[in-house]
Amino acid sequence: MSVYLDNAATTRVRPEAEEAALLAMREEYGNPSSTYALGRRAAETLENARADVASVVAADPEEIFFTSGGTESDNWAILGGAEAAKRRGNHIITSLAEHPAVLRSAEKLTLQGYDVTFLRPDKSGVITVDALAGALRDDTALVSLMLANNETGAINPVAGYSAEIKRRGLKTLLHTDAVQAYGKLPVTVKTLGVDLMSVSAHKIYGCKGAGALYIRRGLKLPPLLVGGGQESNLRGGTQATPALAAFGAAARLAGVELERNYKHAAILKNLAATVITREIPDAVIISDGGSPYILSLSLPGHRSETLMSALETDEIYVSRSSACKKGAVSHVLQAMSLPPAVIDGALRVSFSRDTTEEEVLFLAEKLKTAAETLFRRR
Ligand code: PLP
Repeated sequence: MSVYLDNAATTRVRPEAEEAALLAMREEYGNPSSTYALGRRAAETLENARADVASVVAADPEEIFFTSGGTESDNWAILGGAEAAKRRGNHIITSLAEHPAVLRSAEKLTLQGYDVTFLRPDKSGVITVDALAGALRDDTALVSLMLANNETGAINPVAGYSAEIKRRGLKTLLHTDAVQAYGKLPVTVKTLGVDLMSVSAHKIYGCKGAGALYIRRGLKLPPLLVGGGQESNLRGGTQATPALAAFGAAARLAGVELERNYKHAAILKNLAATVITREIPDAVIISDGGSPYILSLSLPGHRSETLMSALETDEIYVSRSSACKKGAVSHVLQAMSLPPAVIDGALRVSFSRDTTEEEVLFLAEKLKTAAETLFRRR
């Protein structure tokens, strides 16, 4: 039995998304910018996908701009957002717990002369409203703080950030990287009060290479790519209709199933945490609370890589902390000031709508065996 528990890294494409992509490749293969019938049908596919992607977070379809994924959306939101808000000031706020797509973009801004504040998360991985309040200034142009953390699942109080910005009477733009929350947590762009939101298709059973940036109506962002005028002149290039059609199908179903999948993930996360800490008394749960889709835990005294390799022999796939890390120490867990032994033994287990209780129990059993075997070998 192969047990895939790395759904925060990516998910398997669901059959309905696969079918939508196949249809766009085989039948509706026209260029959505072409004016004859085949092109018009491709454009219709694209616009239906846009409406489906928008509806999950109650956005207007005109506020959704397709991109190649979360990374591109984050780059656009931060570099474009800072430029759009330049008149408001030179100060940017983000955090040390962000995805590299945000961190590297913010670092780029530093090189361009912006003054960037990197907030430190608290022990549970959250950036509190108080932390933001302490950093906000009259010249803060842009705040970029993620909704759900990809390593710990910690959920940030994004609605609280927008309330604080308003309370202070600031015109600061608010961006959230919602890649791990979109289609998973019950949020809307209005309740969050964001100006910009990044989302990605492959975390919700769509294809890799598709995503979107929500840009609040009225906000003028500079174009990301200049070209043929696609995406309302903001992101040139023929749209990837098969991947975007799949994104639309995946988004629509994520919306329909949101509550059911959320409850399912919560049961699995609770089961995993309970059984693992019962069977392995030394195990530490890093992410208490937060997104039900991500369980971050640690076996201090062991190394994540060794545990992962041991699990892989039983065809169980989990991750060190995030798929982007490839061997480096987790900057998120470090920013949370966790003890080095906890960071070294950290594992991320992430669930999908298809994960079963049996798979979770299998993980707990094999993790226990791995911990005991590795302990004896020392
Ligand atoms: N932001 C977060 C929080 C993520 O988890 C990821 C992917 O792991 C990204 C951004 C990047 O998304 P993509 O892989 O679509 O570029």
